[in-house]
Amino acid sequence: MTKCAEDLKKCIDCGGECCKSVAVKLDTPEDADDFEDFKWYLFRDGWTVFLDDDGDWHVDIPGRCRHLGVNNNCEAYNERPPVCRDFGVCDCDEGEPAKIVFEKPDDVDKYVCKLKKQGKLKPGTLVKW
Ligand code: SF4
Ligand code: SF4
Repeated sequence: MTKCAEDLKKCIDCGGECCKSVAVKLDTPEDADDFEDFKWYLFRDGWTVFLDDDGDWHVDIPGRCRHLGVNNNCEAYNERPPVCRDFGVCDCDEGEPAKIVFEKPDDVDKYVCKLKKQGKLKPGTLVKW
């Protein structure tokens, strides 16, 4: 089985997660105030903030596409937008654990506290991920 064929099986098993939420890239936080801004997203039900393997932060916003059928097939496959056409299953990292996930505002506070204790979050210090 080729790598991509294996990935297509991964799609079937996954059930169309990429059609059930939107991940929007965020600016990399550089100080405690930037982390405070993360909490604004986390006040919303179901929204999460995560750090991926490449060191990029994202907010994940739940929302099922209206074209996703009950069997998790795209019911507008031939008319799907370019963003869907350009998303390659072979590049998809669904199922791979994020390096950090914040599910609620408290998670941010605990993480900032940990960074401060480690001396990694001082005024004017650029956080390295
Ligand atoms: S591309 Fe990724 S997220 Fe989308 S259905 Fe396939 S495995 Fe799931
Ligand atoms: S248009 Fe189809 S492929 Fe694109 S997000 Fe909706 S269900 Fe998924």
